Amino acid sequence: MSSNILNQFLSENLEDLKDKGLYNEIDPLESANGPIIKINGKELINLSSNNYLGLATNDTLRTIAKEAIDKYGVGAGAVRTINGTLQIHVELEETLAKFKHTEAAIAYQSGFNCNMAAISAVMDKNDAILSDELNHASIIDGCRLSKAKIIRFNHSDMDDLRAKAKEATESGQYNKVMVITDGVFSMDGDIAKLPEIVKIAEEFDLITYVDDAHGSGVLGKGAGTVKHFGLSDKVDFQIGTLSKAIGVVGGYVAGKQQLIDWLKVRSRPFLFSTSVTPADAAASKKAIEMLMESTALNEKLWENSEYLKAGLKKLGFNIGESETPITPCIIGDEVKTQEFSKKLNEAGVYAKSIVFPTVPRGTGRVRNMPSAAHTKEMLDQALTIYETVGKELEII
Ligand code: PMP
Repeated sequence: MSSNILNQFLSENLEDLKDKGLYNEIDPLESANGPIIKINGKELINLSSNNYLGLATNDTLRTIAKEAIDKYGVGAGAVRTINGTLQIHVELEETLAKFKHTEAAIAYQSGFNCNMAAISAVMDKNDAILSDELNHASIIDGCRLSKAKIIRFNHSDMDDLRAKAKEATESGQYNKVMVITDGVFSMDGDIAKLPEIVKIAEEFDLITYVDDAHGSGVLGKGAGTVKHFGLSDKVDFQIGTLSKAIGVVGGYVAGKQQLIDWLKVRSRPFLFSTSVTPADAAASKKAIEMLMESTALNEKLWENSEYLKAGLKKLGFNIGESETPITPCIIGDEVKTQEFSKKLNEAGVYAKSIVFPTVPRGTGRVRNMPSAAHTKEMLDQALTIYETVGKELEII
């Protein structure tokens, strides 16, 4: 027998979400998550995935993953600190440290998990965290888990950050103060002002924490936002995910050896949850090696994103102020945004609508994620569809 209270809670709340149009319908893919995807038997140009470099379907990585399964099996068999650290996990961490130009690195099961692990391993109730108001949900949850005082600063507002850093450090209330930011903000595609953040951090002795989920593989010729600004030795925590540009799954912290040593003994998902599979670790390692060897995919990503951005702008869409391949088409009204996305889908383009509460009210948008795997023909076809649907809905 199931609980009546639970049944009532679920029914009421699910109903409420559906009434408000906020219930997230999921479309399962009948294909790989490449530049063309298949949903409900229909092929669509995919402008929705984080597979920036097309590596999720790369043939070399498929082979490497299969070889790792043959050598190590399908699972790690235990948590890392018991005997689930396979040689391939160690090699992945060594490769990550090289990629990020740091002394060491530690791998986690996901980017989300990594933020839950790393923040609370270092910060506690006697500390404070200065957090950009647009930081990713996993950063917010990681901060909450730490029980530190969370002080939000206005998005990329360096005067606000400075004032709050001064107040927090001079109050004498906190043992440690951390500043934490996304490297690239995923809804608008803008880049954190890291040189200014690092300067403020130096002035007030703040711990610096940059989650570069959307910058790695993209900025700094692939090495990420911190490298893009030449700040590799000035950021304490370089966080990344292996699930976006790298194309696989997993998360990591790169930093000083002592920091990584501490995370290995104190971060709970490392201690109490089994690590990524051998296939994931091997494919991630190889993908990073490929990025370090050649910038060709990174260049193709930028070429494609400039092309798509120019095309959408020429058609008259508001594409915001993105500095990265993330290309929003800002529609504004939530209902119209959802209708636009639906009609794009019917016409052959899969680009998801993003509305309140993920973005502020009145800034609904369809977010486009071009990749290195798209061809010019695919992008031209997408632009033609954008033009037709945009005119039909009187957006352009
Ligand atoms: N941090 C940021 C900034 C992200 O955008 C994301 C992905 N949505 C994550 C962390 C979570 O990464 P993962 O999907 O690897 O858990």
